[in-house]
Amino acid sequence: MHDMIVHDPRCNALFIGHAKLERLYTGCRWSEGPVYFPAGRYLLWSDIPNDRVMRFDETDGSVSVFMSPCNHHNGHTRDREGRLISCEHRGRAVSRIEHDGSRTVLADRWNGKQLNAPNDVVVKSDGSIWFTDPTYGIDSDYEGDKAVSEIGASNVYRIDPATGDVSAVITDRVKPNGLAFSPDEALLYVADTGRSHVPGLPATITAYQIDADGQSAARLRLFATCPEGLYDGFRVDDEGNIWTSAGTNVFVYAPDGTHLGTLPIGEIVANVCFGGPKRNRLFICGQTSLYAIYVKISGK
Ligand code: MG
Repeated sequence: MHDMIVHDPRCNALFIGHAKLERLYTGCRWSEGPVYFPAGRYLLWSDIPNDRVMRFDETDGSVSVFMSPCNHHNGHTRDREGRLISCEHRGRAVSRIEHDGSRTVLADRWNGKQLNAPNDVVVKSDGSIWFTDPTYGIDSDYEGDKAVSEIGASNVYRIDPATGDVSAVITDRVKPNGLAFSPDEALLYVADTGRSHVPGLPATITAYQIDADGQSAARLRLFATCPEGLYDGFRVDDEGNIWTSAGTNVFVYAPDGTHLGTLPIGEIVANVCFGGPKRNRLFICGQTSLYAIYVKISGK
């Protein structure tokens, strides 16, 4: 366990000097997809190879299995009504758990072709759902069912809240993975982990400008390049700073791209999310374990 490493003075407004990284649970094969539910003070996350969704109860620190089997969930988020939105590798779908507990498939095809394996998902304030669709869930039987991509590409898609239509909004990434909007939703950040399939490809986060209609995106600029390992999932805090997995660390970037600080975790980090009643506790999915640390800022 290590503390934060400050690279830029602005970091002091984000990190609590004496806050310690806590390991809340260990025993997973690959942890990813954390999502916090303030109404119940619990966090769900995926243990993808074990085909289960785990549940951390913040009131007493206990951990239990929330759902198994689960179609090898990966990324999760909440929608505007507080319902769980899931990326299913084996289901090759984005689904929603309704208030009565039933499952609704929101997207499993684009242009008549089956999706690859939805990876990570965010909900915009207009209710639209944006998700990435790389091939990790169909590359082998480890995290889903091995299959050939019908689409033949890995895109970012948007589900229209009114019609349910699925449209491809970003098609220039090799393996789009984590994604998150800026606080004003003017930008969408997208990580590309394509080096897993294209040796030497830089591991990046790219910023896309959301068009005036709120429904499409245009590439704006390269936001950051990972010096070691890959960026997978990330979240944005209320000031627009990006808290991202970066190899075996969490990196914090200012909105201008400055690397503000590093939190070493000691194993590969897949994803993070803010939680707690004040949204000031950063939950971190490392490969085998769930971690958390309190920070000075709140995030979505
Ligand atoms: Mg991911």
